[in-house]
Amino acid sequence: MNCIFCKIVNGDIPSKRVYENDKVIVINDIHPACKVHLLIISKDHIESANHLTEDNADIVKDMFMAAKEAAKLSGVSESGYRLINNCGSDGGQTINHLHIHLLGGEKLGERLL
Ligand code: AMP
Ligand code: ZN
Repeated sequence: MNCIFCKIVNGDIPSKRVYENDKVIVINDIHPACKVHLLIISKDHIESANHLTEDNADIVKDMFMAAKEAAKLSGVSESGYRLINNCGSDGGQTINHLHIHLLGGEKLGERLL
């Protein structure tokens, strides 16, 4: 499968992992939108939030817990951060493998767009 995030998970594309457990990896976004911009990526290939089912949705808990740990490791736990999931074309999803953006390290705008 020609999926960039599967290649990163497999190690075919090398990456520095900010955090990892058996379900999730966390890496730095290659084009950071702010001072701290992490990607929380499921190890399993799930295309998007639209592809969550009763059988695979436990990953959502794993991803939020990994985000919390990565926030701590990146020093933004106390200052705060924003978690965003883009889904589909209008949502701005460009990589069709489930991931959450963690944005922080500076004061973010109050508006979402
Ligand atoms: P989205 O638009 O929500 O699908 O987010 C995809 C994100 O992946 C974008 O913010 C990209 O900058 C980021 N990205 C693309 N390729 C890489 C890569 N090789 N390593 C890290 N981040 C990447
Ligand atoms: Zn994938």
